[in-house]
Amino acid sequence: METAGVPTRIEHIGIAVKELDSAIGTYEKLLGVRCSAVEEVPDQHVRTAFFRVGESKIELLESTSPDGPIAKFITKRGEGIHHIAYAVGDIRATLHDLASGGVRLIDSEPRKGAEGLSIAFIHPLSACGVLTEITETAPQPHD
Ligand code: ZN
Repeated sequence: METAGVPTRIEHIGIAVKELDSAIGTYEKLLGVRCSAVEEVPDQHVRTAFFRVGESKIELLESTSPDGPIAKFITKRGEGIHHIAYAVGDIRATLHDLASGGVRLIDSEPRKGAEGLSIAFIHPLSACGVLTEITETAPQPHD
């Protein structure tokens, strides 16, 4: 095993959408696969839908509140790519490494994201304008 903090793959790409049900239809047609899970994450004021794409996923995000982060993003920039999430083996070690390297974190402690995973966000100012998420995952299961 290499350094715990190094990402092993892109876990998912998050896409902000206005209307989840119609976006699910759009992506089912686009990718030719069924949505694998729909879940509400009250903590982040979102409903999410996941699509498996190889070892990664697409996460569609709909705001459940008019002033939630996804609603604000869409007001400002329209629908589109919202964040990129990297899989790491040890999220606390990664956060520690990033913080000591001067990376600006949104979450200094992990929180619970969709699918029960521990996640944390890194500020876009430390990622060339891209909201960046790290997700702690077990080694990729072959299912
Ligand atoms: Zn995400």
